[in-house]
Amino acid sequence: MSTPRTVLVIGGGAAGNAATILLRRAGIAVDLIEAKDDWNATAGSGITLQGNALRVLRELGVWEQVEKSGYGFAAVGITAPDGTILHVADDLRTGGDDLPATVGMQRPQLQRILIDAVRASGATVRLGVRAESLEQDGAGVTVRCTDGTEGHYDLVIAADGLGSTTRAAIGIPDKPEPTGMAIWRIAAPRPAGLTRTDLAFGGPAYIAGYCPTSESTLYAYVVEANRDRASLPTTSYADEMRALARHYGGHWPEITRHITDPTQVNYTWFDRMLVEGSWHRGRVVLVGDAAHCCPPTLAQGAALSMEDAWVLAEMLTAADAWEDALFQAYYERRIHRVRPVVEASVQIGQWQLDGVRDADIPGLMGRTMTMLRELP
Ligand SMILES: Cc1cc2nc3c(=O)[nH]c(=O)nc-3n(C[C@H](O)[C@H](O)[C@H](O)COP(=O)(O)OP(=O)(O)OC[C@H]3O[C@@H](n4cnc5c(N)ncnc54)[C@H](O)[C@@H]3O)c2cc1C
Repeated sequence: MSTPRTVLVIGGGAAGNAATILLRRAGIAVDLIEAKDDWNATAGSGITLQGNALRVLRELGVWEQVEKSGYGFAAVGITAPDGTILHVADDLRTGGDDLPATVGMQRPQLQRILIDAVRASGATVRLGVRAESLEQDGAGVTVRCTDGTEGHYDLVIAADGLGSTTRAAIGIPDKPEPTGMAIWRIAAPRPAGLTRTDLAFGGPAYIAGYCPTSESTLYAYVVEANRDRASLPTTSYADEMRALARHYGGHWPEITRHITDPTQVNYTWFDRMLVEGSWHRGRVVLVGDAAHCCPPTLAQGAALSMEDAWVLAEMLTAADAWEDALFQAYYERRIHRVRPVVEASVQIGQWQLDGVRDADIPGLMGRTMTMLRELP
């Protein structure tokens, strides 16, 4: 390409932010548009970042901040509903031996770190803005936005998440489908002595778990069958979550005392989606949840999303021509890694929905995590 390259990134979540930072580092001009006025109005309380996510965050230059803000640990406990510890397994260091196996973080902290890095990258950021129309020609895409601006870009990166309207606009018909499960989540103070994730399988819910997110905080979650949202007024959220959580022992009684404010409780259905065949049409390419999503049974959604951004940025930066073959190669490189994670994440939930008692969950987790140790 002889003229300077220009990219529009649609969506300022983990995937869009990561792509922006890496493309700017390569000297590519990036405009980022984010639909929300408040860029850090992130839903959900905490996030579990596995080593392969930390590896990308290190590549983005923000690992030290993540390490300082989050809570690193290296094992996962399996407990009975009453809190009796049944098994403690070392987490695999999927990001390599020089990174922790896992870091728990408050979601707004992670987003703040990424936002600051995007701002520092020199990208142009417009908040409260969506793409209204995309018109492709042989050399790129003309994009009209809801703020009345129009621009021509060599490439559009659709990082607008699960419900991506960009995906639909370029004629990719896939839509997320509910897996049958839903999760209640809340941030709470971290009880002394709670230093890793413990998962209780069984009891009134499928899973009750928690993850430390800093020296003083954690996020706790309870997974049950999804229910009609209309019958769940948001004012009842704390009561609903507490009604499930109170059946669990160990650290749960202390956590449950803090499940009081319904506005602090998040209720979300689990979805799955995997776009197959290709993740682009012309010069519009999907990354992150816009291309694939999985229930968080392996806590891999954001990790895979940031990996997409890393791989795409690396391929764009190395290529002379941004053409069909490049975008297809990006898809081929990603699908072999993403598909097994989506399938394993869905399978783990399905075994629980089906009541399969002898399912080899640790075996499937182990095989999937071993695969993720490889560089993306
Ligand atoms: C309950 C739950 C728990 C999870 N836990 C984990 C976990 O522990 N670890 C993990 O790795 N992953 C986890 N995930 C998955 C993770 O949250 C997602 O995979 C990740 O956030 C996807 O990032 P993204 O940037 O692709 O999309 P998003 O984070 O959804 O970001 C998309 C952005 O695009 C913006 N946007 C949307 N439409 C437009 C538009 N038209 N124009 C402009 N902007 C737009 C949105 O406002 C948003 O900011 C979990 C998911 C769920 C549901």
